[in-house]
Amino acid sequence: MRRSGDQERPQPATVAAAGSTTALPIAVRQLSKAYGAVPVLDAIDLDVRPGEFLTLLGPSGSGKTTLLMAIAGFLRPDKGSIRFGEREVVRLAPHKREIGMVFQNYALFPHMDVARNVGFPLRLRRVPVAEIARRVEAALELVQLGGFGGRRIDQLSGGQRQRVALARAIVFEPRIILMDEPLSALDKQLRERMQIELRQLHERLGTTTVYVTHDQREALTMSDRIAILDRGRIARVDTPRAIYDEPGSRFVAEFIGESSFLDVDVSGGVARAGGATIRARQLPVSHGRCTMALRPERMRLLDAGEGEDLNCFDARVTGVIYQGDTLLLQTVLGDGSPVALRLATGGAAARAPAIGAAVRIGIPVEDTVLLADEPGARP
Ligand code: ADP
Ligand code: MG
Repeated sequence: MRRSGDQERPQPATVAAAGSTTALPIAVRQLSKAYGAVPVLDAIDLDVRPGEFLTLLGPSGSGKTTLLMAIAGFLRPDKGSIRFGEREVVRLAPHKREIGMVFQNYALFPHMDVARNVGFPLRLRRVPVAEIARRVEAALELVQLGGFGGRRIDQLSGGQRQRVALARAIVFEPRIILMDEPLSALDKQLRERMQIELRQLHERLGTTTVYVTHDQREALTMSDRIAILDRGRIARVDTPRAIYDEPGSRFVAEFIGESSFLDVDVSGGVARAGGATIRARQLPVSHGRCTMALRPERMRLLDAGEGEDLNCFDARVTGVIYQGDTLLLQTVLGDGSPVALRLATGGAAARAPAIGAAVRIGIPVEDTVLLADEPGARP
């Protein structure tokens, strides 16, 4: 964000000045790529909104990197179109796409110091030397490496190197930023801190960003929207909350968060599962079989008389696992279906039932998720 007092400075004064006013939408249409007979991208349609942080999430091999490389221009698709704003770019060389990229392995030049690494895209663009110095320092400030310009790359930690790579990606004010698993080489604590930092940086820059990860928690933490890839197709695009609360399919429910699944029989508009009648906001089928997904942290361990607005089951405890922040209670229903509960620890944990105990468990009707998938239908 530029303050009003900065207006008369020569342009561009800061990296952040690029801002959301020039953010570009990305429109991917019917994009396909095959290696031999194997389709890796299968008629992908995807819209990224201007200034949006969109994450491509999917299991290994689902096509995330291939799709990102096609957007960057390093991979020529067999078919389809990619537009940045009004401009068709599918045949445009990568360096003409004005994209900032960050990879997992940093891809820094080890023999250059930090400032020369970050200034590299500006030297390529023949920006005057004095302006390079100013913009490099501004970019380093943004990634919290102000004053590090003279350091050698091998004097930096992994997190600092990734920040240098990030500064290099934003220093020329790209219209689009693409990142492929940029945090996966970092340890868990640093990764979680960098997720927040990257998100905050995105909010300051407002640049349209496509981010790749296979880590569902990372995707939930950082994204405006998540596109879930399943074997070269987009299974779902939505906000983190919508995807988590209304996964819509068993694949998505399994991939995002934890779930237990029950087979549901629907007949005459009445759903039954695990020996109980199930109330839900809506039934995905009016007759036949479907699947109920139960999130462990939405499950309740009930006292006698409780259960008014809940779908309730009789269960037996098969495991009690203390995990610090939560207690994982494993149970089985009368028909043998396993159902897990995640309970808050503290006072309540001390009263946790013992293995073998008969318990009554329930899930609020509003958290009850029924999926159209037939039991065991997924190949
Ligand atoms: P992800 O990034 O989601 O792990 P990729 O996009 O890297 O997946 O790969 C998707 C699929 O395409 C994988 O099955 C992979 O083996 C295949 N693939 C990727 N690149 C090539 C290539 N150059 N030649 C043949 N197969 C490839
Ligand atoms: Mg990949």
